[in-house]
Amino acid sequence: MSNKFKPETLCVQAGWEPKKGEPRVLPIYQSTTFKYDTSEQMARLFDLEDSGYFYTRLQNPTNDAVAAKIAALEGGVAAMLTSSGQAANFYAMFNICEAGDHFVSSSAIYGGTFNLFAVTMKKLGIEVTFISPDASEEEISAAFRPNTKALFGETISNPSLEVLDIEKFARVAHKHGVPLIVDNTFPTPINCRPFEWGADIVVHSTTKYMDGHATSVGGAIVDSGNFDWDAYADKFPGLCAPDESYHGLTYTKAFGKGAYITKATAQLMRDLGSIQSPQNAFLLNIGLETLHLRMAQHCKNAQAVAEYLAGSDKVAWVNYCGLPDNPYHALAEKYMSAGSCGVISFGLKGGRDVAIKFMDSLKLAAIVTHVADARTSVLHPASHTHRQLTDEQLMEAGVRPDLIRFSVGIENAGDIIADIEQALKAAYA
Ligand SMILES: *Cc1c(COP(=O)(O)O)cnc(C)c1O
Repeated sequence: MSNKFKPETLCVQAGWEPKKGEPRVLPIYQSTTFKYDTSEQMARLFDLEDSGYFYTRLQNPTNDAVAAKIAALEGGVAAMLTSSGQAANFYAMFNICEAGDHFVSSSAIYGGTFNLFAVTMKKLGIEVTFISPDASEEEISAAFRPNTKALFGETISNPSLEVLDIEKFARVAHKHGVPLIVDNTFPTPINCRPFEWGADIVVHSTTKYMDGHATSVGGAIVDSGNFDWDAYADKFPGLCAPDESYHGLTYTKAFGKGAYITKATAQLMRDLGSIQSPQNAFLLNIGLETLHLRMAQHCKNAQAVAEYLAGSDKVAWVNYCGLPDNPYHALAEKYMSAGSCGVISFGLKGGRDVAIKFMDSLKLAAIVTHVADARTSVLHPASHTHRQLTDEQLMEAGVRPDLIRFSVGIENAGDIIADIEQALKAAYA
């Protein structure tokens, strides 16, 4: 149903299309394994000659229905769910990179992804070069090497809230014959569809707005089907040359536009096993049914909170791309004309100590590590996620010592602002 319907309809109905007498609601296929009538039928599955379910470490019908909904929302040809956003980012990259390869990434990315790329993938022999998302095309190009296999960025970076110029990144990636991979967690496909601007692969931490209720950790990878792997076959032997672990099958020849996701499922899920549990996929699907309603309310509330903060004499600075004087306002208008996300960052006059007093005084907004769910929450990275760093190192990481990350929920905007107002009073008392 991907082409016929608008996003609101896809949120509610895509992915699970029951036939006569089947459950109206996507069931949880709580089964590790699936039955066949003959040994031959099972053998064909193992050779990838037939498609079908055999073991939930590789594929499960509940997961596939939810992945199909996410693929429809992003406008992609295929998708898969992973156990976390971390697994999604690792698989997306490791599916086309191996020891001796290199990729280029925006430096404005989630801390977990930064560690994955800079530390853990390096141990696997895969190197990364970080570039500023604001770098010129020439500067980004200069980071490429003959063994570079991908370019990576976040649509809106967590927690620095920088907006990626997707078309610029796509142009550079394609000039060098590699795909652009975009982490679209913060805007979700409701507010931005990176494939429309030239991205080739999209990844998500579904833990955030997609689930939206902070019940389940999960991730997703979506393929646009647009990148022509065979045109650069020497760069991508894993997709374009025979796979020894499947009797010499070649993914691009056997699966066409499904090659990338099929390989990630057949090889990476088989060998590394980071499948999302069908129970979590079920909860994710319930979240997706209201994604369009929630994103609109998150953005409306965040805009009101950002405007309130910008007008307060106790606030030193506010970072939200919905504010007209924000450096990323123009890019946000271009790529996310209906709204960006509900996450704001700001600093208080008086710095770190006042920030802590302010946070401790909040009553409606809760101090949690999470962002991007229905409940308003707040975090002080310098005291929490980044607390090992000195003030100097914090600045290098793009996290100011006074930065408060405020994730605006879907409650009443007036109530959220009243809570901030009383906490500001208390912080300076
Ligand atoms: C949270 C997050 C991740 C990691 O996702 P998990 O589901 O926590 O593993 C990756 N990218 C972004 C942008 C995130 O916000």
